[in-house]
Amino acid sequence: MLQLLEIELTKNKKQQPAADQLGFGNHFTDHMFIMDYSTDNGWHKPRIIPYQPIVLDPAAKVFHYGQTIFEGLKAYKTDDGRVLLFRPQKNIQRMNRSNERLSVPELDIDTVIEALKQLIAVDKDWIPTAPSTSLYIRPFIIATQAQLGVAPSTHYQFIIIMSPVGAYYTEGVNPVKIFVESDYVRSVKGGVGEAKTAGNYAAGLKAQELAKEKGYSQVLWLDGVHRKYIEEVGSMNVFFKINGVVHTPALNGSILDGVTRNSIIQLLQHWNVQVAQRPITIEELYEASRKGELEEAFGTGTAAVISPIGELNWKDDVLVINKGLTGELSKKLYDTLTGIQMGKLADPFGWMVEASAVNV
Ligand SMILES: *Cc1c(COP(=O)(O)O)cnc(C)c1O
Repeated sequence: MLQLLEIELTKNKKQQPAADQLGFGNHFTDHMFIMDYSTDNGWHKPRIIPYQPIVLDPAAKVFHYGQTIFEGLKAYKTDDGRVLLFRPQKNIQRMNRSNERLSVPELDIDTVIEALKQLIAVDKDWIPTAPSTSLYIRPFIIATQAQLGVAPSTHYQFIIIMSPVGAYYTEGVNPVKIFVESDYVRSVKGGVGEAKTAGNYAAGLKAQELAKEKGYSQVLWLDGVHRKYIEEVGSMNVFFKINGVVHTPALNGSILDGVTRNSIIQLLQHWNVQVAQRPITIEELYEASRKGELEEAFGTGTAAVISPIGELNWKDDVLVINKGLTGELSKKLYDTLTGIQMGKLADPFGWMVEASAVNV
């Protein structure tokens, strides 16, 4: 457990943005959590300090070899003033799986949960309460050893920053248009696609930029070997409702094991909707659409929660899904999941963790 956490409160509280000015990831709260690692001392010196720049040696390994991991989760304030975190253990467990893949030292889960609770307690006034807003939490690790040899770093920092957010896409819960990428590849089995590590995202920017130029908000990646199996969107897993059954790509070693994906599967199964986790080809989707069987498509991720997909473009073949409108099931999933997260609906799965137990 976390011991002797030092807390240094800021003397200059920032002006908080209005709810309609939030956007995603533009504003940061007054404080941050930071903890150091060295091979000799393990993780040590956990502390909460005013939000501020970090000073790193230009030779710090993170700049050169990208040894870095991140996570993303959200906190919500309920109408009766409780603060709830959505499945935080899942994120920290995944962070440890990413750590393992990138040769970064493991974190103690209870320590991180405690750090989250204490940081949220310090900045709880920053949790927005308007509909579709929340406090996005970004834990991350960077390799800080100042040394240019290609080898795992001997020193790291684990940091948590927090950002009050509105909708992730400017479309909100309205359908997004997605470009199916046939040239660039995000990941292959055996690579780092399963890990939430910076390189995956840097490598995807070019395709995303080209898709944007064509009027698409994101890229849908195909598998790197055959270029035919559907993988995921830049920061979302994907689901397709075909003939009443919901299909999603199986966890295959090259896509991210999303917490939202996992939760949506549980919700659907709870409602007795059949879910098929399997390899899905892009041809198959177009074929299902031609037969009138492709009913809905949506992406899932912490940032957007559920994002309906209204259009796909694969090699200039445009496929409009559900007339470009939000499907009934997508809407029901969005309303249910956000209802549970905001503490407005019952939480039959025990997903929400109360963060307001700590008083600062
Ligand atoms: C973060 C992320 C997701 C969504 O995961 P959640 O745990 O649901 O937020 C999906 N795909 C990629 C590539 C991601 O980085």
